[in-house]
Amino acid sequence: MDFNMTPPTTEMEQFRQEVRTWLEENIDERMKEPVDEDDFTGEMYSYWREKHQQLAKKGWLNPTYPKEYGGGGLTGAHEAVIVQELREARACSNMSDRRTPESIMVWGSEEQKQKFLVPILTAKVTTWQKLTEPHSGSDLASYESKAVRDGDDWILNGSNVFISGRGARPDYLCGPMQTDRDAPRHRNLGYFLIPADQPGVEIRPMNLVVGNTHSHTIFLTNVRVPGNHLIGGDHQGWQVLSTQLEQEHGGDGGGGGSLAPNRSVESLITYARETKVNGRSLGSYPLAGQSTTEAYIDGHVDKLFSQRAYWIHQSGSEPAHEGALSHLFDKLYGIRHEARFREVMGPYSLLGTTDPLAPHGGLQEIRMRNALAISHRAGSLNIAKVVLARRMGVSRTKERAAPMRTKGAKSAH
Ligand SMILES: Cc1cc2nc3c(=O)[nH]c(=O)nc-3n(C[C@H](O)[C@H](O)[C@H](O)COP(=O)(O)OP(=O)(O)OC[C@H]3O[C@@H](n4cnc5c(N)ncnc54)[C@H](O)[C@@H]3O)c2cc1C
Repeated sequence: MDFNMTPPTTEMEQFRQEVRTWLEENIDERMKEPVDEDDFTGEMYSYWREKHQQLAKKGWLNPTYPKEYGGGGLTGAHEAVIVQELREARACSNMSDRRTPESIMVWGSEEQKQKFLVPILTAKVTTWQKLTEPHSGSDLASYESKAVRDGDDWILNGSNVFISGRGARPDYLCGPMQTDRDAPRHRNLGYFLIPADQPGVEIRPMNLVVGNTHSHTIFLTNVRVPGNHLIGGDHQGWQVLSTQLEQEHGGDGGGGGSLAPNRSVESLITYARETKVNGRSLGSYPLAGQSTTEAYIDGHVDKLFSQRAYWIHQSGSEPAHEGALSHLFDKLYGIRHEARFREVMGPYSLLGTTDPLAPHGGLQEIRMRNALAISHRAGSLNIAKVVLARRMGVSRTKERAAPMRTKGAKSAH
C-alpha cells in the first residue's frame, strides 16, 4: 500500500507552483487567518466568501468532487497539494461545513444535487452542521427536535447547542429532526436542509471560555421548510446522518487536512533548538529534549494514521477501523501535544496574543484552552473508543462503514 498522496512528480510540482503563485498574487496579506479566531472580522468574512468562489471556479475549493456538481474533478494528490499550499498561505478554509456535501452526494436526488450541492460546492451558499441538542450529543439517536408534515411542507421545532460556523448565519442549517415519534430509534428521523433566513430561526452566539470555536445555540420555532429540503426518505435520516458521522469519525482521513506539514511540531522543535538557557539549547535539558522528541514521534504517527484513512477513502476502498483509529489517536494526541508545549516552554506557553514575550504570537495559549474542548468535537473521547471497538468487533455489535462518496460511486438514492 502506498498512501503517500504527494509523490514528487514533475506534474505535481508544476501544479504546486501554479497554486502557490496564484495564492501569492491573489491573497491580501491583511486578510490572512489571524492567530486568534476572535480577530476574524466581518470584512475578512466577506473577503473569503468571494475568494472561495474564485477558488471553486478553479476547481481548488472542493478538488475531488465531480465537476458537474461544482467540484474540481481532481485527484487526491492534487487535493494534498492544494491543502498544503492553502495552509502555508494562511488562507481561510472553513467558511462552510465540509461534511454536508458528502451526505447530499450519497443520499440526495439529482434534483437536490442541482438545487443544493452545486451552490454549496461553488461557494455561493454556506452550511452549518446542526447536530447536537442540549440533551443529545453523544446519543444522537435520541433526537427530540421535531418535524411535522403540513401539506407538502414540514414545520420544525427544536433547539441545538455548540453549532460551529463563521459569519452571523449560514444559508442552511443541516441536520436531523424527529419525523415519527412512534417509530423505533434509528428509524424515526429525517435529514433536513433548513433555510436559515426562514421566520422562526433564531441563532445566538455561544461564548465559550475555550475561544476559537465560533459556537452558537439555535432555536427553531414553527419553522416552515419545503418538502424537497428533506434529503433521503422521512425515516432515513439516521442513514444520511451516518454518512456525515463516518467523516466526523475519521473515515475521510480529515478531508486532506492532515496532509499539510505539522507546523506545530516543527515550531516546538525550533523553539527547543534555538532557545538558550545558561548558554545551552533548551532541548539539551533532559525533560525538554524528551518531550520534544515524543511530540515529534506522536505527530508523525498521527499524520500516518490519517494519511492511511485518506488514502483508503480516495481509492474507493471500504474502510474497516482505520478512520476510527485515526480519529481516536488524534484526540489523545491533541491533549498530550498541548501538555508538551507546557513542559517545554513553561509559563511562556500561557502568554496571550497581546504579550510581546509570547512564543508564536500567543498561539499556544489559545491552543491550550482549546485542547480539551476540541477533543469533544465530533464525539467525545469515550465515544471515539466505542466507535473503534465496534469497528474492530470487540464490542456487543460489529459495525461497517456508512456509505460515502468514492470515485465513481453511485448515489444511494
Ligand atoms: C469545539 C466544538 C465544536 C463543536 N461543533 C459542533 C458543530 O458544529 N455541530 C454540532 O452539531 N455539534 C458540535 N459540537 C458538539 C459535539 O459534537 C458534542 O459536544 C459531542 O458530541 C458530545 O456531546 P455532549 O457535549 O452533549 O456530551 P454528552 O453526550 O452529554 O457526554 C458527556 C460525557 O459523557 C460521556 N458519555 C456519553 N455517553 C457515553 C457512553 N455511551 N459511554 C461512555 N461515555 C459516554 C461522554 O464521553 C462525555 O465525557 C462541538 C463541540 C465542541 C466542543
